[in-house]
Formats: sequence, C-alpha cells, structure tokens
Amino acid sequence: MKQEKPMTMPQGEGASTGACDACGNKECSAASRRGGETDREFAERRRLESRLCRIRRKIVVLSGKGGVGKSTVAVNIAAALHAAGRRVGLLDVDIHGPSVPTMLGLEGITLGNGPDGLLPADAGGIAVMSLGFLLPHPDEAVIWRGPLKMGAIKQFLMDVAWGDLDWLVIDSPPGTGDEPLSVCQLIPGITGAVIVTTPQKVAAVDVRKSITFCRRLGVPVLGVVENMSGFACPKCGEVSAIFSRGGGHGIAEGMKVPFLGAIPIDPAIVASGDEGRPYVRAFAASPTAAVMRGIIASLLALEAGTDAKRK
Ligand code: ADP
Repeated sequence: MKQEKPMTMPQGEGASTGACDACGNKECSAASRRGGETDREFAERRRLESRLCRIRRKIVVLSGKGGVGKSTVAVNIAAALHAAGRRVGLLDVDIHGPSVPTMLGLEGITLGNGPDGLLPADAGGIAVMSLGFLLPHPDEAVIWRGPLKMGAIKQFLMDVAWGDLDWLVIDSPPGTGDEPLSVCQLIPGITGAVIVTTPQKVAAVDVRKSITFCRRLGVPVLGVVENMSGFACPKCGEVSAIFSRGGGHGIAEGMKVPFLGAIPIDPAIVASGDEGRPYVRAFAASPTAAVMRGIIASLLALEAGTDAKRK
C-alpha cells in the first residue's frame, strides 16, 4: 500500500523554471509577486497560471455519489468535444479509484518527458493524465490526506505539458471532499461544473449538496446530467423506464440550473468502457451517442458567449 508520501512526478527539463511566457500581458496576475509570497510559492503560481492560461475552458465533472457514471460521462464529454474538432485534455483526479485509463484503453502505459514537462498520454487525440499512470500496480491503494492530494492535483495541473487546449475536462471523485475542493480552488476562473446523477430520489440529496458546494465556491453549475435514466433496448433502441426517471431533471428545475440531458442504461456503455473505447466514438450513430452530443452542445454554446466577450 502507498503510505503518505508526497508524489514526485517525473520532471521535464523546463518544468521547474517557473518562467511564464504564455502571454506578454504585464497585467497578468502571474506577472508580479503577491504580498507575503515566498520565492517558491511565486514560482509555483507562475508555473500553474502559465499552464492554465493556455487552456481556454476548464470544466469539472462532479457527482454526489460513486457509481453513477461520472467517469463515463467525463470520458464521453471529452470524446464528443474532440469529435467536434476541439483540442481536448482529460484529467482524472480520482486519486482513490482512477478509472479513466481503463475506459480509454491506456492501462499500463509509460508516460514520456518533454522539454515542457511530463507528456500526457494520447487517446486518439485526447491528452490524458491520471494518477493511475503513476501507480506501480493497478491494485495499489493510495492513502493520502488532504494536503497531499492538493499537492498531487497541483502537480497534475502545473507539471504536465498540456499545451494549448480548448477544453480540459476534469474527472473528480464523488462527493464534496478534498479533490473537487482542490480543483475548484487551484483553477482561477474555472468555467464550471457538470453534475452527474442517477434518477432515483436517494441520489437527490447528494446532487443538491454538489450544487451548494459549487455555489459556495463561486463555480458556475453548467448543468445536471441524469445518467442511467431508463433502459435502452439493445435490439430496437427503445428506452423503457425500468426504474424511476426524471429525478435529475426535477432537481435541475428546483435548483434553477440547466438540465443537460438523460443518458439511458445501455449495455454497450459498459462494454465500451471495459474495452477502452469511448462509447460516443464506438457507437457514434446510436441514439445514446446523440444524447451525449446534445450534452456537449450546451458546453459549445458557452464558447459563443465567451468568444463574443473577448472581441
Ligand atoms: P463513477 O465514475 O460515477 O463511479 P463510472 O463511470 O465508473 O461511475 O461507471 C460505473 C459503471 O457503470 C461502469 O461499469 C460503467 O460502464 C457503467 N455505466 C455508466 N453509465 C452507464 C449507462 N448509462 N448504462 C450502462 N452502464 C453504465
């Protein structure tokens, strides 16, 4: 078992310089030292901000509970954005149960180093980083307290050569603990959060908690996805309501946040996840993939808003 010990990521040649050459903006918060900041803190903040500044939009995928399909949704959002022609990164900060490597067929790969830091893995054009890549064995259990988790997430953001991206999708562990808190605190101006739930009432309380968490931290809630909503017949594709449906929709309405879409239970989602192929790529023509593309349509609509503001 991995006991509490700070994570040391392999460093690229330029990873520790702290130089910020992302833009020439002298007004940039990374251009000058804040009062009370030590040399090291200043260098780290510059490195973090210069990385993040090259990523136009960062979204975190949250859920109140585990097992509701949060990683599945995060992987498919990333794949759908990539299919829509965007430069996409996917960061898995689920330190205790990183499932993104499996879902993208990247188990057991070795990461390389570049002049600008640790190189993310490539999943058919999506830049991917996960703690799972750094664990010596997939069965390894990570036992870390809050500050150590925060340090690891900071390194994921700061020391990985993400390059220029249109979207970074961050898969966070369930709940409102250290990892989502670190992500929301470390990324200034985070674009927002997508919250995944299942339709049942028991999930409702947890979704409300996730929404309240975002509101407290000033993170915009981009919307709620209701996953495992009805069953999609593998033969005819018809969706039947085997359990209750509409819980996520009701919560979104009640808490006045957008509803992004309902994804049915579909055995092909399990199969594609286990085989390491994003469903939205492997079954692009299916009605469920169309639902997933509908979810990212709401995200893409944000581009129009922010790009108009930039002009
Ligand atoms: P979480 O990240 O919330 O823990 P995962 O995305 O890892 O959940 O999903 C848990 C399991 O449920 C995985 O085996 C996944 O393939 C499966 N799953 C997720 N969404 C669906 C769905 N809509 N239909 C069928 N299986 C699903």
